[in-house]
Amino acid sequence: MKSLSDIDQDMATEGPPEVHEGGVRVGNKRVNAPDEFKPEAWEVIIHGDRPNILGNPHKASETCPRDLSIRLFRRDLLSDIIIKGPMFQECLRIAKEVKAGKEVILMCWCHPLPCHLDFCQLVIQAMVQMLP
Ligand SMILES: [Zn+2]
Repeated sequence: MKSLSDIDQDMATEGPPEVHEGGVRVGNKRVNAPDEFKPEAWEVIIHGDRPNILGNPHKASETCPRDLSIRLFRRDLLSDIIIKGPMFQECLRIAKEVKAGKEVILMCWCHPLPCHLDFCQLVIQAMVQMLP
């Protein structure tokens, strides 16, 4: 069994401890974002900004506040889930990676402000729970 200092050493050099359950979180792409919001070396990076498949086409603006842009995205994603469309497929693909033990970070420009990817994270976590 590894000691805590061995595990600290592993995390500093290679990544997280060998036995972990996988997970998904939201990160921030900005160069000046705090380090805690940037990808770790061992994380699988998924770009969730426009024009990627999980990007939010409802850009926040003066006429479309952030909360509305997120609500519109949630509606899009739920509609897509019903028809098992491309956004659903992408969330399921990511969920399978998480289930397999990967650490996934969904990247946009908002976090820790509310982001459409917060909802993607919830959907993916729910899918992970449902996967056999
Ligand atoms: Zn965002």
